[in-house]
Amino acid sequence: MSAQRILVVEDEKDMSLGLRDILESEGYEVVTAGTGREGLHLAGKKTPDCIILDLMLPDVSGYEVCEQIRQKKLTTPILMLTARAQEYDKIRGFKVGADDYLTKPFGIGELLARVMALLRRHGGYGVADLDEVRVGSSVVDARHFIVRRDGVDHSMSHYEVELFKLLYSRVNQPVGRDEILLKIWGATESFPTNRTVDNFIVKLRKKIEEDYRNPRHILTVYGVGYKLSP
Ligand code: CA
Repeated sequence: MSAQRILVVEDEKDMSLGLRDILESEGYEVVTAGTGREGLHLAGKKTPDCIILDLMLPDVSGYEVCEQIRQKKLTTPILMLTARAQEYDKIRGFKVGADDYLTKPFGIGELLARVMALLRRHGGYGVADLDEVRVGSSVVDARHFIVRRDGVDHSMSHYEVELFKLLYSRVNQPVGRDEILLKIWGATESFPTNRTVDNFIVKLRKKIEEDYRNPRHILTVYGVGYKLSP
C-alpha cells in the first residue's frame, strides 16, 4: 500500500516544516507549496489525498485557491488553516469548497484527527463525477456507465467505472495493483487478488481499446500496475 499524500499550502516556513515533520512521522507523504498558485498547480499534478491550505498566502487567498481547485473538478478534501487574529468566514469557506477548518495555534493531535477524518470520509480518488472522457476512438461516459465506440454503446459495470475513474485520476501515471485493489475492492470483498485487477483491466480494454490484445491507452507498467494514457 502506498502512503497517502498530503499537500500543504503554507507560506510560513516554520509552520510548513512543522506540518511536514508531523505528517511524515505519521507515515504520510508530504508535498509542500509556498504560494497559492503553486498549491493550485500541485493539487492537480500531485493528486494529493488531502490538502491542508492556509488562508493567508502571499499571492492569492486560501478561499480563491479552494474555489479554483473545485473548478478543476478536484474533490480532494481540503482542511483550511486560519489564524485566530483573522476573521475566518466559515460560510464562505464551505461555500468555496473547504471541508473543514482549524484555527492556529492547534495541537498536533487535533490536526491529525481532522486529517484522518477527512481521508476516511472522502476515500475517493480526487475526481468528481466525470464528464465524458475521450480515450482514443472511444468516449467513456462514467456517469452513465457507458463506453461509446464506433457508434455503439457498451455498458460498464460498477467496478469497471471505479477502475476507470481511479486510472483517470492519475492520468499518464502508473497506479499500482495493490493500490487499485485496496481502493476499489479493499472494503468490499474478502479475498480479491491481483488477478481480479488484471481481469477487470481486460474487461475495460475490450470495451475501450480498438484491439484489446494490443492496448494503446490502458497500458501495463511492468512490475507496477497500469496507467491510462488517453
Ligand atoms: Ca500563511
